[in-house]
Amino acid sequence: MSFDKLGLQSELLKALDKKGYTEPSPIQSKAIGPILQGRDVLGSAQTGTGKTAAFTLPMLQILNKARQGGKRKVRGLVLTPTRELAAQVYDNVRAYSEFIDITASVVFGGVNINPQKRTLKQGVDIVVATPGRLLDLHGQKAINLSEVEFLVLDEADRMLDMGFQRDINRILALLPKKRQNLLFSATFSKEIKALANGFLDRPILVEATPENTAVEVIAQKVYRVDKSDKAALTVKLIYEGEWSQVLIFTRTKHGADRLSRKLDKRKIPSFAIHGNKSQGARTRALAAFKKGECRVLVATDIAARGLDIPLLPHVINYELPQVPEDYVHRIGRTGRAGASGEAISLVEVNELKQLKAIEKLIGKSIPSEEVEGFEPADKPSEKKPQQQNNRRKGQGNSKHKKKKGNWESKKKNWEQKRPKSK
Ligand code: AMP
Repeated sequence: MSFDKLGLQSELLKALDKKGYTEPSPIQSKAIGPILQGRDVLGSAQTGTGKTAAFTLPMLQILNKARQGGKRKVRGLVLTPTRELAAQVYDNVRAYSEFIDITASVVFGGVNINPQKRTLKQGVDIVVATPGRLLDLHGQKAINLSEVEFLVLDEADRMLDMGFQRDINRILALLPKKRQNLLFSATFSKEIKALANGFLDRPILVEATPENTAVEVIAQKVYRVDKSDKAALTVKLIYEGEWSQVLIFTRTKHGADRLSRKLDKRKIPSFAIHGNKSQGARTRALAAFKKGECRVLVATDIAARGLDIPLLPHVINYELPQVPEDYVHRIGRTGRAGASGEAISLVEVNELKQLKAIEKLIGKSIPSEEVEGFEPADKPSEKKPQQQNNRRKGQGNSKHKKKKGNWESKKKNWEQKRPKSK
């Protein structure tokens, strides 16, 4: 399948060509046609599947076709949960619209509102926004939403997790009734289904991966380890695997800072990103990571949302997430756009319950091993033996040694595959 079979206009194909994309990803193949036909779409897709282009390309074509002269009005609106994701979607919109007469702007909180107001005043066709700032701008009469024809809710599950339900409802109430709607979400809880039913009109369902299942190309593994040994094991994995880039998830902001300090002490350059960091600090950390200037990014779930790190080969769950769905989001950061990846979870005795919940969600058990020198002293109580934990006892060491070679070959493999940075 090639892009020109999807009904996209030549100017968009030219932009895709410039990006170096030759083939649509599965979600792009499935979604672009129906969106171009004017259908509402409910998309099941996480970051890394190419979902941004799947909604941006047809949105641009539709708005470009309908464009009339005169001052530009906001006709396309994309809502995202985080500033980072908003910025990324905006970058995509800019890149794909290079050869057509459509303009876009991005607005999010945490930065001065005045430049955003000035840009909006000049008139734009598309606005990419986080909900809170959009409502602020509307409250200050800096944006008119009554002409919106095309609405996208991106990462809707995360917007609800972050408490944006009311803001979303308020925004929906400001939009004209007649419009085309798209909703993308990695998971489908009751709440998401209710939200979708509330404003999508006979949507077509398109799926990038089956509901709530972890992407198959990602090798998932659990290392049982004591809490006190997690930092040392992390260092060992990074050194011995010669990992050049790894994303590590912690549960708390303090945990992220603590681990980052420990890694720095062991001469592994790292940055921590979380909600307490300023927007500038987050942007700088992400840019440094993307340029390869820092080897490790330590992130909390919310801060990591929307990070666009192509072909990231390794993710470590330093602590398991409280919400099982977050596990799927986290490991979705590896194995992007078809590349293989590895997601390792360091699990201490008190996290075995969370592990079970995750395995239930993804519908399979994750192979569990122990690493030589890091065998956990804390065992679960005897009442109900934990299958996961004891099953491979005694095999763990040799397995780990065997795997080392694999990591190295994987890394080489990844480096060969990695595209030149944009
Ligand atoms: P997304 O899921 O939209 O965040 O996209 C994930 C990554 O895949 C981004 O780095 C995109 O630039 C890239 N990408 C999107 N579509 C394609 C494609 N058709 N071919 C190759 N890479 C793509």
